[in-house]
Amino acid sequence: MDPIQQELDVLIRARYPILYLVSWEEPRVMRTLRSIARRQEKELLTWTVTDGWTTADGRPPARPGDAGGRRSTSPAPRRTRSSTVEVDQALDALDLVEQWDSGGQGSARGALFVLKDFDPYINAPAVERRLRDLAMRLPYAGYKTIVVLSPVLKVPSHLEKDITVVDVDLPGYDDLKAILDRIVKSVSPEAVMLDDEGTEAFVKAALGLTSAEAENVFAKALVMDGKLERMDVNIVLSEKKQVVRKSGTLEYYESDAKFGDIGGLSALKDWLRKRRGSLTQRARDFGLPEPAGALLIGVQGCGKSLAAKAIGALWEMPLLRFDIGSVFGRYVGESEQNMRKAIAVAEAVAPCVLWIDELEKGFSGMSGGEDSGTSSRVLSYFLTWLQEKKKPVFVIATANDVQKLPPELLRKGRLDEIFFIDLPAHKERVDIFDIHLRRRGRDPKNYDLDALARAARQFSGAEIEQAIVAALFDAFDENRDINTEDIKRNVEVTVPISRTMAERIEALRDWADERARPASFAEDLVEPEDEDGGEPAKAKASRATARKPKVEASVSEVKPEG
Ligand code: ATP
Repeated sequence: MDPIQQELDVLIRARYPILYLVSWEEPRVMRTLRSIARRQEKELLTWTVTDGWTTADGRPPARPGDAGGRRSTSPAPRRTRSSTVEVDQALDALDLVEQWDSGGQGSARGALFVLKDFDPYINAPAVERRLRDLAMRLPYAGYKTIVVLSPVLKVPSHLEKDITVVDVDLPGYDDLKAILDRIVKSVSPEAVMLDDEGTEAFVKAALGLTSAEAENVFAKALVMDGKLERMDVNIVLSEKKQVVRKSGTLEYYESDAKFGDIGGLSALKDWLRKRRGSLTQRARDFGLPEPAGALLIGVQGCGKSLAAKAIGALWEMPLLRFDIGSVFGRYVGESEQNMRKAIAVAEAVAPCVLWIDELEKGFSGMSGGEDSGTSSRVLSYFLTWLQEKKKPVFVIATANDVQKLPPELLRKGRLDEIFFIDLPAHKERVDIFDIHLRRRGRDPKNYDLDALARAARQFSGAEIEQAIVAALFDAFDENRDINTEDIKRNVEVTVPISRTMAERIEALRDWADERARPASFAEDLVEPEDEDGGEPAKAKASRATARKPKVEASVSEVKPEG
């Protein structure tokens, strides 16, 4: 029995009156429910707004008043009980649940009443009341269980205590492997050119798809050229990208960023490199805990996003970009629903890296209270997931503004580490010039990187890159190649963010000093002595001391007065 079948089996035996199954996979869930009904010797009745109730053999069930077990074919009597016909139908549907009595055949086996797509009616006051009454009566009225089955979770707050929500996971590795095996068996052996490793790659690529989607894409891969081979994994992957995109909040991020593209940030790179295999079973067997994730806080344009993008490639795992701001919807319950969906997709794609860019944008304004607690509910769902997650999803979050981050997020145990990414120091700037010159097809040996790094003191990585780009334009215009002077000139005319936002950067450094770990090793943070004029001594000293973070402290403690 798979875990979901087991869970439902127990809930139904324990006479939970109303279960709400959230799933896109109607056929798979119905198969599971049929199998439970068979084992528990229960009747299975299904309701849709178009067909009304039908029994397992597709016929309308006996109505109250029908003679002993006789199946009536007449439609249910319709009264005008609410403002819409559909709500009347929903109420009639619930009437049948209460009045149903195993068709007068003398057996008290009970029944499962599956309501498909019932969520649009559940908010109608009369339906809500009727469900509350049923929730109280059903445990004493035979073995009846109502099962609401819908891809969308909509539980009115009045019903929260009466309804048990069960999230049906997307199919796991074994389920998808069974689907692939079925397809492989149905074609001639010559058409299948997959060894064990190829099969595993195929199935893993399909994680995150529903059974129907997986079946379709496996069949598509086969039909396209009449055979199944390792290369076809790409067809499956592109299907998965579609699915992730359809989730609306996640994006399957394809990045060619490598660790070699990041200048500096030695401590962060080292930390990530050591955790490279940490999402694998081998790490579990070795006794390592599942890593939760890391938060990268820092000055704009210094490589936070770049580092997040490079992890996917370093760890050879899918990178899902999560736009947390987009989970907030206009309708009641929509935001929570979006958050659940995003997490479900990420878990189905696991092992993967979930990159939350600009974390503060999602949760800022939470204290305003104008959204009647939606943001805090979404945040608390996210935090609970973060703390209890069982699937190998590594969260890498980036943020510029700590003042806007909810303090709960920074408490110990939520994330493994908080890194502070400061403006690059001399050696790091040399690296960054080197990387960006190389990226534009220039040999760094032909440039005075030391002089450039000195000129670009207090510049961010993004500003260094921009100076090179501007120099390229200048040189191109004059029909020659760039030289050190071109770049230096552009550095000198740039007003870096460190000057325009000096106070904010200083406040960020003060905050990080106590709470975050520097993303660079101390030895990389030394500035050349002769030009050590601009940077505040305090910040410099703190950056050069690789302190252990005290992440349990709350951000609110450091908020400026007023
Ligand atoms: P923001 O908060 O504005 O999103 P960020 O810290 O995430 O900033 P990135 O988006 O990573 O900054 O940086 C922008 C670009 O600047 C990068 O794509 C990269 O080209 C360049 N860059 C920044 N930092 C570095 C670095 N340490 N090494 C190499 N390139 C860098």
